[in-house]
Amino acid sequence: MFHKIMVANRGEIALRVICACKELGIRTVAIYSEADRNSLHVRFADEAICIGPPQLAQSYLNIPAVISAAEIANVDAIHPGYGLLSENANFAEVCETCNIKFIGPPPQVTRLMGEKEKARAAMKKAGVPILPGSEGILASEGEAVEWARQVGFPVIIKASAGGGGRGMRIVRSAEELPALFNAAHSEAAAAFGNGDLYMEKYVERPRHVEFQILADSHGNVVSLGERECSLQRRHQKLMEESPSLQVTPELREETGRILSQALSNIGYVNAGTIEFLMDQDRRLHFIEMNTRIQVEHPVTEMVTDVDLVKSQIMIAAGAKLQDVLHGPIQPRGHAIECRINAEHPEKFTPSAGKITTFNPPGGTGVRLDTAAYAEGVIPPYYDSLIAKLVVRGRDRNEAISRMGRALEMFIVEGIFTTIPLHRKILADPEFRAGKIDTGFIERFLKAAKEHAA
Ligand code: ADP
Repeated sequence: MFHKIMVANRGEIALRVICACKELGIRTVAIYSEADRNSLHVRFADEAICIGPPQLAQSYLNIPAVISAAEIANVDAIHPGYGLLSENANFAEVCETCNIKFIGPPPQVTRLMGEKEKARAAMKKAGVPILPGSEGILASEGEAVEWARQVGFPVIIKASAGGGGRGMRIVRSAEELPALFNAAHSEAAAAFGNGDLYMEKYVERPRHVEFQILADSHGNVVSLGERECSLQRRHQKLMEESPSLQVTPELREETGRILSQALSNIGYVNAGTIEFLMDQDRRLHFIEMNTRIQVEHPVTEMVTDVDLVKSQIMIAAGAKLQDVLHGPIQPRGHAIECRINAEHPEKFTPSAGKITTFNPPGGTGVRLDTAAYAEGVIPPYYDSLIAKLVVRGRDRNEAISRMGRALEMFIVEGIFTTIPLHRKILADPEFRAGKIDTGFIERFLKAAKEHAA
């Protein structure tokens, strides 16, 4: 097992990884930018090293600075959290060269899954159902029109290097395709430094359902069931739950079986998430794989009792799944997570600044993952996620009422947060009946606006 791990991240996920290390008896090293000097991940790590000014490119994304810190602290391994360098295959390679274990998949697997168009082809080959779409990168608008006619409108043009919902355009006719193709290309080139595009059939009113897996370095893979992540705004998840009401035990088992085989074939190692869209006929279609721990991992932890971050660390140290898991996965109850962002709840503009009051909710079945505290400052440079409120109940109804009271007791003053929005969603009859799809939030916000006018 490792003696010392560096956490190459900040905020709630850095703290989450530190918690896992503490429970495993591993020493921790935090890195921080000048803006994060007073952050909790710095306070709770055994050692902390400042790696640069606030800007991401000069601190958390600055690979030479991150590696230098790891060498100075003499760590055995680096946990990258999510976002930042977590899916950067070059970074994983540099770690390897420096004899530091990167807690994630082998670099070539990260690279394969990071090119979404290639990931699609690899998954198809491994027997995972994918949506009809283009083969290879779209060379021109003309080629895109040809594929679109073959696939049938509507289609969605997506960035191969995509993430965070950027570089995507829904296209409903051949006339509008060229303009949307060019817009997606420019957006992708600006956001990812890579304008490559591919195309998929657009699914109307889909659900976003994703499967959590764990794979060890001995070829064993296990599925920990699914999460329902259809509540999204601008393709960004806001609320997640597990299990999904739409996934039958048969579909869960069948998908788990297919994925275990597929991931074993591609040599996957680490925790991972396979994202699907579910169509109106409840069929699942692969859209992408995330090769890291995800923001919404706690809902799976709540229903399975498996600590996914500890599992990642043990797997990276060479442990076998059977020693990580202590028995079969038997999900119990229902879990929901609300992402609490430092944002205006209606305008969705970022809301940085000093938190004046912070009253965290607690009680039976409630978990709060956060690095925020009273008198703490939310810097303007980073992601707006400041807390994840997670509850577990015997069933979905209990989870909903538990979340309702936890949100009521969660008081954050001094900045705006998405707490009021979550409270409204939880009270909505359609949500309570489980009638959700990826367009739910946009419709909900539109109706709320019309009602207010
Ligand atoms: P990103 O990597 O940018 O997050 P994804 O491929 O994971 O992109 O897609 C993000 C979201 O975009 C999905 O959860 C879904 O809401 C929407 N989406 C993506 N592909 C399709 C599709 N083929 N049909 C309908 N909606 C889609």
